[in-house]
Amino acid sequence: MTILVFGSINMDLVIRTPRLPAPGETIIGHEFFTAGGGKGANQAVAAARLAAPTKMIGRVGGDSFGVTLLQQLAESNVDVDSVFVDESVASGVAIIAVDDAAQNNIIIASGANHQVDQSDLERLSHHMPQAKVLLLQLEIPLDMIVAAAKLARQHNVTVLLDPAPAQALPAELYPLIDIITPNEIEAGQLVDFPIKSQDDAQHAAQRLLSRGVKTVVIKMGAVGVVCATAESADFVPAFSVQAVDTVAAGDAFNGGLAAGLFEGLPLPQAVRWGAAAGALSATKAGAQPSMPTRAEFEAFL
Ligand code: ADP
Repeated sequence: MTILVFGSINMDLVIRTPRLPAPGETIIGHEFFTAGGGKGANQAVAAARLAAPTKMIGRVGGDSFGVTLLQQLAESNVDVDSVFVDESVASGVAIIAVDDAAQNNIIIASGANHQVDQSDLERLSHHMPQAKVLLLQLEIPLDMIVAAAKLARQHNVTVLLDPAPAQALPAELYPLIDIITPNEIEAGQLVDFPIKSQDDAQHAAQRLLSRGVKTVVIKMGAVGVVCATAESADFVPAFSVQAVDTVAAGDAFNGGLAAGLFEGLPLPQAVRWGAAAGALSATKAGAQPSMPTRAEFEAFL
């Protein structure tokens, strides 16, 4: 059995900086580095580093970034045989600034990720009979996400949707989702009111449940997560760590949650795996380089 990840693959171009620039302002930053990113690929690496067999379905461009991205995914034990190299476009790229307070801002040029189409869906479909969990995010076209969730439902595969970057979702998608994992900003945009407290998050969770999702997990950074189903409403506090860079902490969470579910853990324990992976990733720079290994993870837990 495997975890399938149908989503984006990006090269992150990162500058660490004392503070984020204002519009029109130029500032001198600290160092620059590149790292594998893209919400899909990040979640795949997070799950694979925790020793879950993980297969990535998506696209990179026909440039040197594409070659490096596939190499790095393979080094983290992500199966990339079903990633298509689209020679006609650039690989997805994200330009990221991270300040000394670990705040970031990000601009993405989707490139190959935007070209994901029916042919990718067919490759995904091919692997569905061997899948236990499907991880989805919103960095590939939305009609592909809906189609993938339908396929997973037909095969009894657990669907995790990270609704990021935030956008309105079609009503037909909600009932196809087993677990939706917005952060507080994304949750606020989905329900149309700001999430400023745990109470707000619980209200948002109830709203999302009423649209047909089975489980709602709202990620609230260093505070923790609100976790709600039709039968339960819980709060799981975050682990206490010294955060240096929270880029991809949410992706680490989803990869950890998926790995826990893959191992057959009940939801509260799987959420704890997600929280541990998220916390550990916040202690290191970069998206994919910050994902904990199984050994680091077990030592931490
Ligand atoms: P996103 O990256 O989507 O905004 P969060 O920032 O909420 O998501 O991070 C996802 C999860 O990672 C959190 O719910 C928490 O479990 C963990 N996490 C993130 N930042 C920290 C932190 N500073 N300390 C401890 N855990 C953290």
